[in-house]
Amino acid sequence: MGFLEIKKLQNMKHIIIGGVAGGATAATRIRRIDEFAEIIILEKGKYISFANCGLPYYIGGIIEDRDDLFLQTPESFGKRFNADVRVENTVIAINTTGKTVTIRRKDGSEYIETYDKLLLSPGASPVKPPLEGIDSEGIFTLRDIPDTDRIKNYLHTHKVQKAVVVGAGFIGLEMAENLHHAGAEVSIVEMTNQVMAPVDFSIAAHVHQHLLKKGVNLYLEQTVERFEQKDGKINVCLKSGKIILSDMVLLSIGVRPETSLAKAAGLKIGETGGIWVDEFLETSAKEVYAVGDAIEFPHPLTGKPWLNYLANPANRQGRLVADNMVKGNTEKYEGAIGTAIAKVFDLTVATTGLAAKKLKQLNIPYQRSYTHSNSHAGYYPGGTQMTIKLTFDPETGKLYGAQGIGYDGVDKRIDQIALVIKSGGSVFDLMKVEHCYAPPFSSAKDPIAIAGYTASNIVTGRMPVVHWRDIQNANPGEITILDVRTEEETASGNVIPGSINIPLDELRERLNEIPANKPIYTYCAVGLRGYLTLQILTQRGYTDVKNLSGGYKTYSIAISSLLSQK
Ligand code: FAD
Repeated sequence: MGFLEIKKLQNMKHIIIGGVAGGATAATRIRRIDEFAEIIILEKGKYISFANCGLPYYIGGIIEDRDDLFLQTPESFGKRFNADVRVENTVIAINTTGKTVTIRRKDGSEYIETYDKLLLSPGASPVKPPLEGIDSEGIFTLRDIPDTDRIKNYLHTHKVQKAVVVGAGFIGLEMAENLHHAGAEVSIVEMTNQVMAPVDFSIAAHVHQHLLKKGVNLYLEQTVERFEQKDGKINVCLKSGKIILSDMVLLSIGVRPETSLAKAAGLKIGETGGIWVDEFLETSAKEVYAVGDAIEFPHPLTGKPWLNYLANPANRQGRLVADNMVKGNTEKYEGAIGTAIAKVFDLTVATTGLAAKKLKQLNIPYQRSYTHSNSHAGYYPGGTQMTIKLTFDPETGKLYGAQGIGYDGVDKRIDQIALVIKSGGSVFDLMKVEHCYAPPFSSAKDPIAIAGYTASNIVTGRMPVVHWRDIQNANPGEITILDVRTEEETASGNVIPGSINIPLDELRERLNEIPANKPIYTYCAVGLRGYLTLQILTQRGYTDVKNLSGGYKTYSIAISSLLSQK
């Protein structure tokens, strides 16, 4: 853009509602493109540009210094970006015809500002159901700095020995870990049968196991009915009749897009309840834009609008929308597929794209595969196993999603797969991912390649598979379940009930023990020897052989989690 064009823009007045992820990012980009624009940030809280994602870690004491949560102060931000930052200024109305916003100051006085371009980045607010006793002292939600200060202060002033987290989403689990770290015995209450709604049960089952190992009490398929305050404690009363005694409660039931202002201003609200925006992130009112947690946007894989409460999309949208606000609508947003990660004690859980349960809900035909690979070369010390679950089109192999769980290197694998999914790639493209390799970092066959080879064998028909649920639902008399692990591996009794054991290395000599008139489901520890068995049997005339995807590891973790809920 030339000097004259910039001069043309110099009187442009941008108003931004919300000064954290989306809002602050948009403001800085606007300033970088247009040195002369007037930028006003209106933030109802006392702080801008703070690290919401770091709040659980400050509460748990992992981030020690509160100041580290602030990336900028209103003053430093205002000075560096020549922006008029007004904290404790709440926008209470928008008039899209007159192009004005009405603002309420902390002292209750109100004033009006005009705008040329308006951006809404008001975020989301925590869900707080109208349960009896929910407003009792010691029950918290976590969204911002004042919430954080309240929780931290409560932990200091009360001897919190027992804490209950209601809701096992990503933030709920991060808080469970941090409350544990702060010294509390933690119980998690979750309404569904698994933690972390975006991942499938089979992946969440690893988290269940890990939480229990860490001493966290897990109440799945349990709903809170009411809270009772008694002698400075809170009784969390479940519908089942169970009562959990606690010193504090964190509600992490979910969030809702903050749309009250938009609704009152007559802006279109979409079918999932977020502010509707077009591909330029412009709302139904001209020159009014919206980004972040408050908007809904079509999912690139389904074409259906969805709400996505993540920091990366909010930041990306903030940068992109700034270009459209300054230069006119030139930049199209492509949408987010939902790439998210959480640390749960020592475990890393990450997901991208569409999980199997979502595909099922949407009636999209899919297949899935499980692989368990070493994070780096087995002969180099310190390697750990990670599990990757892929979901994909059974005919074409087009990738729909991936979930990863493990201790090391899960993040980079899911990030790379996210890139392939966003580019419209398939399981065959995973085999082409070129990765940097040396023994401390990976293997010559990276876990992504292994996942790609395995899934491509399924798509091409080289490896028909069954899944842990198929085994659970099968009629034992109608199939042969063939365990090809060694006798040492099966000695502990950790086997699928009803299976026969013929170790892979004895298979060719013992074929006569395997009935040829029934389908055969073969399995080993993680799936590789089961695949070799399948090749031997099918090439020797067995016609209906399938391999258990992910082997005994996937089966046993999922089944034991199911059984522990009974
Ligand atoms: P926000 O960043 O929430 O900013 C909205 C701002 O608008 C708020 O400060 C609010 O006060 C202000 N506002 C609202 N209404 C008005 C009004 N009428 N007038 C003036 N100001 C107003 N995402 C991840 O991807 N990874 C993580 O690890 C992660 N961890 C998180 C942990 C916690 C505890 C929380 C709360 C969120 C976490 N998130 C995480 C989500 C992420 O922070 C959000 O997706 C992101 O901040 C959304 O950006 P936003 O600009 O839409 O909203």
